[in-house]
Amino acid sequence: MKNNECILVVEDDSSIRNFICTVLSANDYNVLTADSAAQALSAITSNCPDLVLLDLGLPDSDGNKLIKTVREWSLLPIIVVSARDRERDKVQALDAGADDYITKPFGTSELLARIRTAMRHRNNREDEFSIQKGKFVAGDFCLDFDKHRVFLGEKDIHLTQNEYKIVALLCRYSGKVLTYDYIIKNIWGPYAKCDNQILRVNMANIRRKIEKNPAEPKYIYTEVGVGYRMTERD
Ligand code: CA
Repeated sequence: MKNNECILVVEDDSSIRNFICTVLSANDYNVLTADSAAQALSAITSNCPDLVLLDLGLPDSDGNKLIKTVREWSLLPIIVVSARDRERDKVQALDAGADDYITKPFGTSELLARIRTAMRHRNNREDEFSIQKGKFVAGDFCLDFDKHRVFLGEKDIHLTQNEYKIVALLCRYSGKVLTYDYIIKNIWGPYAKCDNQILRVNMANIRRKIEKNPAEPKYIYTEVGVGYRMTERD
C-alpha cells in the first residue's frame, strides 16, 4: 500500500536521522530531512509535509521554539522524538503544541503507530472544530456524544457534568496525551488556577465508575506527571 504521505525528519544526529529515514521509506512514506531548526522551517513552508518528526536539541535553536512558531499558522502534526525523558520536557513540548512525544531509544513499531495516530487526528481535525457527533466506542466502553451519556456494556453510567466533560474531551482526542493544564483549562476555563488535585479527584471518581479495576485502568491511562490518554477507539 502506497502512503504518498510526506514526513519531515528534523534531526541533527545523522545516524538517528538515517535510521528513521530507512524505516519510513521502507513503509512507503516520502521523506524529507532537515538538520537544523532553520532548515526545518524552510522545508515546512516550501514543501508542506504531512507530518514532522522533531528532535528538540537542534544546533541552532530549541525544538520547542520551532513548535510554537509553526503553531502560529499551522495545525501540521508534530511528533517530538527526543532523548529528554523528564516529565516537564514532555509537558513543555505538548503544551507548546506538539501532538505526541516519543522518547529515545524507541522501537520502530511504536514510531509507526504514533505516526498513524497523528495522521488520523489530522484527518479528523475538521470534525474537531465542529460539535462532536456520534459515538466513541472502545471495548465495552461507549460514549454517546449526541445523548451526552456513557455506557459500559448495557449499563448506563452516571457521571457528573464535569466528569462527563473530562471523559468526552479525552474521547475526542483519543490516543493523544492531554496535559493536566490543557484539561483543566478546557473544563474549568482559561482563568482556572492550575490545580491538579481537583482533576485527580474527578479522575478517581470517573475510574471508579468506568474501570473494572481502577488501579489498572483499561480505558483512561495516566502518563505520570504529564496527563491522561484515552485508549484508541475500536
Ligand atoms: Ca539533537
